[in-house]
Amino acid sequence: MQSGAETPPKRRKRKPKFGDTRQLFALLREHLASGAASLADIARLVSDGLLADAAVIYVARPGELLELAATQGLNVNAVGHTRLRAGEGIIGMVAASGDILNLADAQNHPRYVYRAEIGEEAMASMLAVPVKRAGRTLGVIAVMSREARVYSPMEVEALATVSMLLAEILAKAGATDMGEEGFSDTLPRRYAGHVLSAGIARGQILPYGAPPPIGRLLTDDPDAEIKRLNVAVDAANKGLDKLFSANMPGGATSRDVLEAYRMVTQSSGWLTQIREAIEDGLTAETAVDKVARNLRERMRRIADPYLRERLADIEDMVGRLMVALGGMAPKPERADGYILLVRRLGPADLLDWHARGIAGVAIEEASASGHAAILARALGIPALQVDRGAVETAQEGDPAILDAEGATLILRPEPAVTEVYDRALEARTMRAVALAAYRDRPTITKDGTEIQLMLNVGLALELDQLERTGADGIGLYRTEIAALAAGGIPDVAGQAAEYGRVLDRANGKKVQFRTLDLGADKLLPGEAGAGEENPAMGWRSLRVGLDRPAILRRQLRALLLGAQGRKLSIMFPMVATVEEFRAARDLLEAETARIRPAPEELEVGTMLEVPALLFQLPGLLAEADFISVGTNDLMQFLFAADRGTPELVDRYDTLSAPVLELLEKLVTACQEAGVALSVCGEAAGRPLDALAFAALGIVCLSMSGNAILPVKAVLVEADLNALRPVLRELRRAGAAGGSIREPLAAWAREHNLAV
Ligand code: PEP
Ligand code: MG
Repeated sequence: MQSGAETPPKRRKRKPKFGDTRQLFALLREHLASGAASLADIARLVSDGLLADAAVIYVARPGELLELAATQGLNVNAVGHTRLRAGEGIIGMVAASGDILNLADAQNHPRYVYRAEIGEEAMASMLAVPVKRAGRTLGVIAVMSREARVYSPMEVEALATVSMLLAEILAKAGATDMGEEGFSDTLPRRYAGHVLSAGIARGQILPYGAPPPIGRLLTDDPDAEIKRLNVAVDAANKGLDKLFSANMPGGATSRDVLEAYRMVTQSSGWLTQIREAIEDGLTAETAVDKVARNLRERMRRIADPYLRERLADIEDMVGRLMVALGGMAPKPERADGYILLVRRLGPADLLDWHARGIAGVAIEEASASGHAAILARALGIPALQVDRGAVETAQEGDPAILDAEGATLILRPEPAVTEVYDRALEARTMRAVALAAYRDRPTITKDGTEIQLMLNVGLALELDQLERTGADGIGLYRTEIAALAAGGIPDVAGQAAEYGRVLDRANGKKVQFRTLDLGADKLLPGEAGAGEENPAMGWRSLRVGLDRPAILRRQLRALLLGAQGRKLSIMFPMVATVEEFRAARDLLEAETARIRPAPEELEVGTMLEVPALLFQLPGLLAEADFISVGTNDLMQFLFAADRGTPELVDRYDTLSAPVLELLEKLVTACQEAGVALSVCGEAAGRPLDALAFAALGIVCLSMSGNAILPVKAVLVEADLNALRPVLRELRRAGAAGGSIREPLAAWAREHNLAV
């Protein structure tokens, strides 16, 4: 018998039991499916679902602020008013660090900040999770309880999943409209940065790497999602097979790479976790994203560089699964005229995008002497390292100006700004025409010094620059670039054919081939590096060549075969001792003895990139036919300043007393020994640096194609005799080691030199 039958008891929604994530996700799905779910609904469901007494959601606002956007259980009047700076209070700390905090007694935490308007006095414990997407923190979600307790791992996991859903919701809102202060952004924006490859490009933005918001987050049909996942895993595997068979030469390396990917993609642990997340109610894309996030977070905390390298595999695999699931678009076939905007970019990827027709590239994590930058200069693609934030803000198709001269990326420029750039681009075309007049002139300074201007290249497709620029030859042929582009080192016949083609195209002009300089940031696919902490100073380049002489000998043989009796000039990279130089030269001599016809003349030289070599000059000059200074590496080792770290880009200057003194001594020693000296680092391609080097007596400079004519235009107008005393004076005044660039540039401008 029932009492009170005429007034049926109010149906209460079943409160999920402690940690019942499926129930929580089912309720979330219901709300999200209705299309009317608000942040307040999410706060309420989470507070209920985790049996907490309160929940808060803070979202990021411009200016590094976090604003209370919703609450359950605290004072709703504080919503829209309470703001914290990133790093302020526990919420701000979670946002700034990206770490989860699980505190039984939050108010006694040293970073706790009291805000009277929220009304959280009664709350003891707090679990706060950052809301992150594609490396950015979009907000923080937290639950609180009166009781002092530590939340269980299951509860932490559940809130982390909700935070991920929230990130997708916020990202989607950002793509449409979140109101004035939200994430929608249609205003012009400027991002400062550093020039990697000079030039200006105007076009539409193509952001790549940040996946678009996931369309469907939750499912009520896990079986169907598991089927979708299986199909996607199959497709991703087939895609890998195709990729490797098309791009990898046969052999052990390619098999290793394939195996490594197989291990990660088919690792039962990884797939089981994804399946479990689907069974909890997530769609296949959301589940892949969730498990990838967990893995990334775990990996980031691991110091071991080898394991951290696996992050790249995970990113790659997640990308492939997302593409297969239809959640992320594959690289477009063509990207003509687009300005690519990416977080990171390797040299091989840059080549790939170049082939797709990009007009310019902005990279968040890059530096001028990194190899993507060097390649961008070689290919004549304007490139800029930009401050963080651009990748997140830009939408595909946004109009943009990549000013890789003023070091700015302008998103959605005002019409007046566009007009100014259009005029500048027109002027540039005219300057290019004016510079072209220098092409056939020899580089002889006003005081009669003849300078050789040579090219730095690494690909057959760059060889037309010889004719375009009128360069005197190739001062640095980076043989590893073709290997990077091909995804592996070709066999002897393949290498010999390439070197032969280079000599054919040079048509009698000198070519200095540098042997393979792999390692550090130039890794072939599947080479994770040797797990070193400082790969730039590690087992790389000639060191590998000497320890594994078979590869080096094969390359030397290919060079000799490619020369077919012609003059040949070979140099070794990263030489640190005369002994190493001798060992490398011995390998070359052994190969030379076997190959017929022998080259009519064989010059053997060394790069000077390691400072220790400066203290072995007598021995070195007795054995080397020529020396080429690689300022990119020499600067990083001289000043202990990683060439790939954006913060250090402008910190130390080649135009400073210590570097100029070093070069001057080197010039004297080489002149006395009758050994040819050149500079082939990126500095040689900067007109002002080139001018200073010429004044020191360096008469051979090697640089990327775009630099030849601007450098020549300055040198032919310069009087080195007038510059020398000025340079001496500036060096004396700058003896404390700082840059003398500004006063030197002022002198050059006074003398009408276009530096
Ligand atoms: C250098 O180090 O200056 C150099 C020319 O070699 P790479 O940039 O290829 O390391
Ligand atoms: Mg180098």
